[in-house]
Amino acid sequence: MSKRDYYEILGVDRNSSTDEIKKAYRKIAIKFHPDKNPGNVDAEDKFKEAAEAYEVLSNAEKRAQYDRFGHSGMRGGGFSGGGMSMEDIFSQFGDIFGGSAFESFFGGAGGGRSGMGRRGSNLRIKLKLNLEEISNGVEKKIKVKRLVLADGVTFKNCPKCHGSGQIRKVVNTMLGQMVSSTTCYSCHGSGKVIDNKPGSVDNTGLEPREEVISIKIPAGVSDGMQLSMSGKGNMAPGGSHPGDLLIIIEEIEHKYLKRDGNNLIYDQYISFIDASLGTDLEVPTIDGKVKIKLDPGTQSGKILRLRGKGIKDLDGYEKGDQLIYVNVWTPKTLTSEERAKLESLKDSPNFQPNPEASEKGFFEKMKEFF
Ligand SMILES: [Zn+2]
Repeated sequence: MSKRDYYEILGVDRNSSTDEIKKAYRKIAIKFHPDKNPGNVDAEDKFKEAAEAYEVLSNAEKRAQYDRFGHSGMRGGGFSGGGMSMEDIFSQFGDIFGGSAFESFFGGAGGGRSGMGRRGSNLRIKLKLNLEEISNGVEKKIKVKRLVLADGVTFKNCPKCHGSGQIRKVVNTMLGQMVSSTTCYSCHGSGKVIDNKPGSVDNTGLEPREEVISIKIPAGVSDGMQLSMSGKGNMAPGGSHPGDLLIIIEEIEHKYLKRDGNNLIYDQYISFIDASLGTDLEVPTIDGKVKIKLDPGTQSGKILRLRGKGIKDLDGYEKGDQLIYVNVWTPKTLTSEERAKLESLKDSPNFQPNPEASEKGFFEKMKEFF
């Protein structure tokens, strides 16, 4: 038996829109539906044939393929064999009849109940953290004003859905009675509505309440990062399904240290006298001061590394380093006495710049570090 043309089956023009195709199929589906034609094999065939035609013509890609190659273009596309199963066909109905109107009528093919109550809104807060807190992780107690169920609110079964959360609607169609279920508009699926409430509380039954919430911040977070605490946002009307609390991290700038990923950078200025003679210094780090020693003849641009004095990695146990950039300070003003002393050294051979090949420039050194 040769296959009939899909357009012919649905009785539509080759240029018809998806909408026209949908309408045509809906008509045929109702006319030849097996429940309306019990035991009628011819009707069942027509029903299946229409479903297959609709499956192809309602899909832009399959339709284009069919337009170019006809039925032979459909081989391998899942239709050349036994056609569609009744289950496949019924799963189309969500599409053509809109929503789940057929679901309960046909015993629930596909789809799913959407009887969940509404979800409360998320709360957003900004949390300022200093580098010390970021470096080690910290537990913070913060005050949050969230909408929660007010004291004294009582509930009763929803009169619209009688506590089921679903409203069943019986519609008479050509196929007979169809029962559709939708989420109750009155209780949003919870099945309960407010019975009594204090006068100060609105219809949601919620009131803002200040709560102290303890948040554990892991080490290594960074500016702009968002953490979320599930269920710590506003409750939904009726006091259920709370949203989340979103915590946005703000990094407070450190007085001395700059963050670069998990490394910390400290700019150390020294006089050219200390650079020449060598010196002992104390530099600030996240965990307090650390003594360092600069050798005589330290050049400007030298970088020292304090291993493990940086910030702990968010996903691991490794810690970044602290890098100390040495900058030699050149005096901006001089007294006449100072000027005379320096001028007496001006021609001394030791004061003439004479970099050795091993003394790399600043950028060369930076490359080694990263
Ligand atoms: Zn209800």
